Amino acid sequence: MKVLNLRCANGHGFEGWFGSDDEFLEQNGGGRIECPLCNDRVITRMRRG
Ligand SMILES: [Zn+2]
Repeated sequence: MKVLNLRCANGHGFEGWFGSDDEFLEQNGGGRIECPLCNDRVITRMRRG
C-alpha cells in the first residue's frame, strides 16, 4: 500500500491509501476520492518531502 498526501481544491490536506499510483489515478479520474472535510472531489496529489 502507498500513502499519498492529497489536497482538495479548498486547501484541505489529507492522506489517502492506495495499492499503487495507477489505482489513485483511476479512482481520482472517476471522481471517487473526496475530501473528508468538505467532500470536494477536485483532488490533487502533493509531492512528498
Ligand atoms: Zn476539503
